[in-house]
Amino acid sequence: MNVSAPISTLDGAEAVRQDFPILQRVLPNGRPLVYLDNAASSQKPEAVIRAMDDYYRRYNANVHRGVHTLSEEATAAFEAARAKVAHFIHAPSARQIVFTRGSTEGINLVAYAWGRANLGPGDEVLITQMEHHANIVPWQILQEQLGFTLRYVPLTDQGTLDLSQLDTLLTERTKLFSFVHASNVLGTINPVTELVAAARAVGARVLVDGAQSVPHMPVDVQALDVDFLVFSSHKMCGPTGIGVLYAKRELLEAMPPFMGGGEMIREVKLTGSKWNSVPYKFEPGTPAIAEAIGLGAAVDYLTEVGMERVLAHDRELVQYAYARMSEVEGLRILGPGPDARGGLIAFTLEGIHPHDISAILDRAGVAIRAGHHCAQPLHDRYSVPASARASFYLYNSASEIDVLIDALQDAQNVFML
Ligand code: PLP
Repeated sequence: MNVSAPISTLDGAEAVRQDFPILQRVLPNGRPLVYLDNAASSQKPEAVIRAMDDYYRRYNANVHRGVHTLSEEATAAFEAARAKVAHFIHAPSARQIVFTRGSTEGINLVAYAWGRANLGPGDEVLITQMEHHANIVPWQILQEQLGFTLRYVPLTDQGTLDLSQLDTLLTERTKLFSFVHASNVLGTINPVTELVAAARAVGARVLVDGAQSVPHMPVDVQALDVDFLVFSSHKMCGPTGIGVLYAKRELLEAMPPFMGGGEMIREVKLTGSKWNSVPYKFEPGTPAIAEAIGLGAAVDYLTEVGMERVLAHDRELVQYAYARMSEVEGLRILGPGPDARGGLIAFTLEGIHPHDISAILDRAGVAIRAGHHCAQPLHDRYSVPASARASFYLYNSASEIDVLIDALQDAQNVFML
């Protein structure tokens, strides 16, 4: 591989950078910001910041309730955002888009609303050992309460799902197979179509954690035929505090509510209540209005760039980074080779704790992540307590990866002294 190849797929990557005000930032030590912590949270383009600002300046009001101009404008913008999200993931209807606080809340919503109605002793939920804690802990909590069995697909030494025993793990006892689309540590992209087919063969429902896939590649819920998909706005150029649960219509209709309150009801009497239609049945209380509008603007932005181009750019960056990082002595990359992964690389550097790597990189203006990245069972599998992670997005460039490599070499020099 020619490791000095320029990154060129995302035509006008420089122009893309101009859309993100924070990328012009110079840090207090005089270094320009090199932001490589996108898997934790992405930066926001001007269009998103402006859309939220515009809402607060011009038409801030509660949605769905008021019969006045501002409320009607806010409601229209809020519901337009829902429609944009539906279109972005090819959902048949905006009614299948439930706004949540993020991927974590989306999985908890499925666990408590669908899980409590459908799981009990003798049943099994299958997840994998590469899950983020958001797709482990809710099932563990629920398992205690409902008495079903939680099982895990193991991992290969290469950092992919070990599907050799899938036949014994996925059986007619399995009611739900819940797995991550793109791992936030290994970068592995899981074969959703194959896994959905295996689940269908035993009648299991499928939940896909799209927190790291929806921001980085085209995702079509109908083509993939998933039952549930969750993702988070803040990882895809949108604001924090909002995310999405997509679900098949019949599942949403049948599921009891997760939380009670205003807006999710049709009628409340002292003797009992009737639920609102979907998706409102799952959105009690005042929603995150500005955030939904911001997410809508993020979807517009990504659509304009083109998700195929975002994916291709990620791939080029990760190939370049993989090749350059492989040159660093003592650096161990977790997960599969560059052709089989999304735009992130978690690694360890011999003799230096990931937190120290991160601190030294910070001095060079490079923001990465260090720790277990909310995936402790995964780190246990590879016998590393923690790792450092560089994660890329549409505005990153090859020259920023060069800064990362230089800083890693500096870190080694500091620790060799
Ligand atoms: N799933 C994966 C794979 C993630 O990477 C993350 C966040 O890092 C989550 C779930 C949780 O997302 P959130 O914190 O936005 O709810």
